[in-house]
Amino acid sequence: MTKDLGFDTLQVHAGTEPDPATGARQVPIYQTTAYVFRDADHAAALFNLQEVGNIYSRLTNPTVSALANRIVALEGGAGGVCTSSGHAAQIMALYPLMAPGLNIIASTRLYGGTYTQFTQVFKRFGWEAKFVDFDDPAAVAAAIDDNTRAIFCESLANPAGVPTDLDAISKVANDAGLPLVVDNTSATPYLCKPIEHGATLVVHSTTKFLTGNGTVTGGAIVDAGTFDWSASGKFPSLSEPEPAYHGIKFHEALGAMAFTFYSIAVGLRDLGMTMNPQAAHYTLMGIETLSLRMQKHVENAQKVAEWLEQDPRVESVSYAGLASSPYNDRIKRVYPKGAGAIFTVALKGGYDACVKLVDNLELFSHVANLGDTRSLIIHSASTTHRQLSPEQRAAAGAGDNVVRLSIGIEDADDLIADLDQALAKAGG
Ligand SMILES: *Cc1c(COP(=O)(O)O)cnc(C)c1O
Repeated sequence: MTKDLGFDTLQVHAGTEPDPATGARQVPIYQTTAYVFRDADHAAALFNLQEVGNIYSRLTNPTVSALANRIVALEGGAGGVCTSSGHAAQIMALYPLMAPGLNIIASTRLYGGTYTQFTQVFKRFGWEAKFVDFDDPAAVAAAIDDNTRAIFCESLANPAGVPTDLDAISKVANDAGLPLVVDNTSATPYLCKPIEHGATLVVHSTTKFLTGNGTVTGGAIVDAGTFDWSASGKFPSLSEPEPAYHGIKFHEALGAMAFTFYSIAVGLRDLGMTMNPQAAHYTLMGIETLSLRMQKHVENAQKVAEWLEQDPRVESVSYAGLASSPYNDRIKRVYPKGAGAIFTVALKGGYDACVKLVDNLELFSHVANLGDTRSLIIHSASTTHRQLSPEQRAAAGAGDNVVRLSIGIEDADDLIADLDQALAKAGG
């Protein structure tokens, strides 16, 4: 077909065709570790990257590749890979760019686990993350130095669902000749395609909305295929002969697919953060209904946020879809299909009221997860963000009197009734 296919079509069809061996309409779970080479020449061609094919499932597997290709299509990228988790995707996205002594500029508004990865794990790699308020693009530009290799942010940023102005940040990255890496987990490509706003790489925790039902952990990296890895000499893994892969120059040899092939041939091969085919199967099932679920998530989040905002027990609601939000104009420009389903609520009753609210909810589950069909709640200060200092928590939008909600696809009226009865018990 010559026509560009729409999102709803791609989420069902992209990356797959009836199984060539059996005609199976659904993508089979290729539960195999290895693949038989046709002959010695075929094996040599695969190992030389002269021919694309499966060698060993730590590198590629047809079920996992189907999912990767579908996510690439939905994000509008050139190529990509799946990984064992969202955190694995972050490390693998940065791995080709980084070396000891180098740094990234990261937003202060991040998933709590990402903050920990960027501070604790990075330190042991000799990498540094410099944290800046991404609402101030000039501050992002000012933080860049000769050792900076990437700019990193979330689209609808945790935990308050703050929409990052990707147009402004990608301009800063572009002016500095640096790749912009966007974690698009909370928005999903249905609400935002960061590549259309200038992102170089998009990372996902497929654990969340893409799978949608809280069954498996996974991650993905999508490369726009547009970044010139050779221009500055700052990215030798991609521009210079790669010793880990018999001297190939990935960018020269593979062009727009350089990052993707590097991520398979070096990243997955040597770091081993591989998604398994069972996980890919669950995520392929979930992704088929992504747009339908996201519409309902957004509609419910809007209703719940509006109800909470007028409740006298509530101090404030961070949802960017509210007319009162300082981010409402930005939502309309960068995220026109909605402000997502994750936001924070500050209670007048403080820390104690938050804990009682969490303990008294019946439909909302108290879990360290988000992006489930079920509505979820967590008190970030006592859980995901407890490693942070009170000042860091406040900067991240996770103060002590704040709970984070991830609104599911239930009936909004039932969610509101549940919040109402639990707030009554929470006092304050
Ligand atoms: C959950 C999450 C991650 C980490 O993903 P895992 O699959 O749990 O490793 C990273 N970023 C965001 C925004 C997340 O929500």
